[in-house]
Amino acid sequence: MRMYATMGACAAVWACATFGSGVALGASAVLGVQDVAFSLKIAKSTDEPLKTVSAAEMKSFREEAGRLVWRGHPVLGNSFTVTAERKSVAEGVEWGIKYEGNDTDWFVEEVSFPEWTVPRTDGTKVFVPRICGMVMAPDWKKVQPRQTVARQGPGFGAPHCIAVLGEDGNSFYLDQRGEARFHSTRFEIAQGVEPGTCVLRSVCILPITAESRRAYRVPYPSVAAKFRGGWFEGVAIHRDWVHGQKWYKKAAARDFSKLRDVAMWMWNRGRSEVTVPPAVKFMKDTGLKVALDWYWWHGVPYDTYYPNFWPPREPMSSFKAGIEAIHAAGGYVQPYTNGMLWDCDDAQWAEGGDDSTIVLRGGKVKCTMFNPYTRQRQAWMCGEAPVFQDRVRLVERTIRAAGMDGVYMDMIGHAAHGCCYNPRHRHPKGGGRHMVDGYRAYVEKVRADNPGFYLSTEEQGEAYLELFESFIFVHSSLERFGVGTLPQKELVPAFQAVYHGAVVVFGSYATIDDRPPWDERWGENPFGEETEELEKKYPDQFAVEFVRGVAWGQQPTVHKFLMEHATSPRFAADYAFMKDTARFYHANSDLLFDGEMRAPGRLTCGVERVAFLQRGSYTKPDGVKEVVQNSLPAVFHSVWRSKKGRTAAVLVNWSRKEQAYSLETPDVKSRGTIPARSWMSVEGEAR
Ligand SMILES: [Zn+2]
Repeated sequence: MRMYATMGACAAVWACATFGSGVALGASAVLGVQDVAFSLKIAKSTDEPLKTVSAAEMKSFREEAGRLVWRGHPVLGNSFTVTAERKSVAEGVEWGIKYEGNDTDWFVEEVSFPEWTVPRTDGTKVFVPRICGMVMAPDWKKVQPRQTVARQGPGFGAPHCIAVLGEDGNSFYLDQRGEARFHSTRFEIAQGVEPGTCVLRSVCILPITAESRRAYRVPYPSVAAKFRGGWFEGVAIHRDWVHGQKWYKKAAARDFSKLRDVAMWMWNRGRSEVTVPPAVKFMKDTGLKVALDWYWWHGVPYDTYYPNFWPPREPMSSFKAGIEAIHAAGGYVQPYTNGMLWDCDDAQWAEGGDDSTIVLRGGKVKCTMFNPYTRQRQAWMCGEAPVFQDRVRLVERTIRAAGMDGVYMDMIGHAAHGCCYNPRHRHPKGGGRHMVDGYRAYVEKVRADNPGFYLSTEEQGEAYLELFESFIFVHSSLERFGVGTLPQKELVPAFQAVYHGAVVVFGSYATIDDRPPWDERWGENPFGEETEELEKKYPDQFAVEFVRGVAWGQQPTVHKFLMEHATSPRFAADYAFMKDTARFYHANSDLLFDGEMRAPGRLTCGVERVAFLQRGSYTKPDGVKEVVQNSLPAVFHSVWRSKKGRTAAVLVNWSRKEQAYSLETPDVKSRGTIPARSWMSVEGEAR
């Protein structure tokens, strides 16, 4: 089965076909131990390059009573022993690994296990937990043996699992469980050594200590399984484990009362006179609740002089009046802060910057010039950063006192993972779980400082799921960000398939005039006074970016929504679609806010060629590009089951003409037409 196979003159198949029940095939179906190996990355110091040690170099191997034992290595010594433990579980095989007996001066910095070799064809695709989930179609013929085709970590967008998706539906799954969500880990998928094979790898990045040099046990298991199906059926194996965990249940039990009725987010930027009136107007026009995600309210230029967010860039009287106007209209408001960056050029850097920052392997400070206009460097803070954290905590308390409902703490969910080698820090150098532990303790303090105050962060943080009420996902605008196009790269809602309803998700970069915002505090706008009506050149970009995430159960979000966008005839059609989408989302919130995602099945519909403007907030005039999706399905869809047992598909036709469709899923079967720029639900059998 090929995804996006052309079906006649103008049709496509969306998502994966469903292969039987899609369940894991169990332990007996997992390949034999000859297909499982390990490798290590070792070094004598973190200033030296890593050297790879493989299972094939070990002097002896034996299999005994559910254990694989390798002993003796030319570099790590004759007593060096690696033991893999194998246990049958319902889904497949649960693997654990430890080593001991290293009496050399080499440190083990990474353990890659299992490395599971499986068969593939040239049409085999792979699923990786990138962004909210990505299916990739590697060009296997161009990939050298052992070459990696996909990797992800130590930050994960989607759940901690990968899969190799067979053309015939025979697929392979590998995960990380237990406390893995706190650890510095990685997944890789690589070309196999033998023709017609590929390798799934789970990688643990170790804390570097005298004890871990001698012996170490990877502190979480990995489950390997064969299954029938595509990305959804693979992710569903992990979902079933996640849904049994206390931390998931705690997250899912929250009531999200402040956000439950939100039908539109406005990701607006600037002073209250710009950000607030369009949100108020939308609430008056629809009677629905808007959440304002308020950027560029702060005095400092965006991505410059963090964390000096306070005071606002306008008089306190008008700033507070803006908050009150949102509340008076029934809305919710949260401002931007960054929970992770400290500007190296901040006057207060000398008072604790070097003590707080992440230092990379090799000794450099982890520092990025995000803003090409102010060109200032922002350093990434370690979880062990009390001076920085105290400064941010003060900012968040001040924001709450100003009357905000919550606050956005940028980057943490997406980026507060991985390693630090800062010699000033008490935590072990390298990986382990110190980074997440430090950030979790810091976020818990912000929560304790501000009872009832909602916290929001960037993208998908499994490690922080129960500590934030909402996540922003903006990669529903994936073409704009250069993520890739079909059929090589397909974004899929794997995060939502596991976590929907346990945290509020919103976001898109959909801008009704297609033009990114400009912070006046960056200086002169290099684009000058732009008059071109970009929405005529890219007539579908807004609709596609806007509805893609909603079809995945995200709260509708528009970006840089200005008063003229709600009042000018120029934007009237798109504004009407915004209002219709908000109404549909609100009317179906039992599915789209609270429901459980079901298998997407097979949707056949027309495809459209869509050109997108590839331009973000920091794109310079000579960097603007156009990217084209040649065969984008004109109908997006998903399938849900509500808590009360309603099962239904939601479909949206984002195109400017009526579309015929045919949908077949385990829950819903339907065919018909759907009008241009409209939503519909198709009921399945109630259970
Ligand atoms: Zn550190």
